[in-house]
Amino acid sequence: MRKPIIAGNWKMYKTAGEGVILVQELNALTNAVNDVEIVVCPPFTALPAIAAAVAGTNIGLGAQNMHWEEKGAFTGEIAPGMLKDIGCTHVIIGHSERRQYFAETDQTVNNKLKAALKAGLKPIMCVGETLIDREANATKRVVGAQVKGGLDGLSGQQVAGLVIAYEPIWAIGTGRTASAEDANEVCAFIRRTVAEMFDQPSAESLRIQYGGSVKPDNVAELMAKPDIDGALVGGASLEAESFSKLVKFK
Ligand code: PGA
Repeated sequence: MRKPIIAGNWKMYKTAGEGVILVQELNALTNAVNDVEIVVCPPFTALPAIAAAVAGTNIGLGAQNMHWEEKGAFTGEIAPGMLKDIGCTHVIIGHSERRQYFAETDQTVNNKLKAALKAGLKPIMCVGETLIDREANATKRVVGAQVKGGLDGLSGQQVAGLVIAYEPIWAIGTGRTASAEDANEVCAFIRRTVAEMFDQPSAESLRIQYGGSVKPDNVAELMAKPDIDGALVGGASLEAESFSKLVKFK
């Protein structure tokens, strides 16, 4: 059975001090939960403080991005080993905001995925279609190409341990969630694509999150779907109260 994974993407919110208070409150509300993997992804500047605050708790720590090179003249970038060094366990790769505003492509996502695995970080690879894609009935073509491009050259064993977040762009931060049926249909399609690329057991082990306006009042319905194994959450992860309700979706 796949262990559910609920991850909070704080985006460009929270100073180190604000983040420490948030994870302390979150830990108090969720420390009895051991059948759900909990991850918070603060901005880079808050990572060291949050690493100290989550030490000894059941909360994992993820970065929101990284470069794929181990080191070098890349002003403003952060290397995988630097994240590992300060205690990160996870890293989000290829979020739609990175693809849209920072020109990330399936090729850079693929480079980053390989580098994260090499550094011993657990990647959460994001995929998802725009509203124009969806209205043109191109969701599966677009998402399928992102999955194939992103996972190119990986082994089945590596893919088995991955997390893929399906996030329709039109549902992010808009209050518009995909229906649980539509979300599950695309997640099942992603799993089939992975089975075709690699093998069935790896596809069965892979965890697939839904993301896009996940809130306490829709999380249970989404999580009840067979191919949805978790949620990647923006807005509702910024307060301990709402995020803990997502962790305790059952
Ligand atoms: P949202 O963001 O929950 O605020 O829609 C999700 C995401 O971008 O990961």
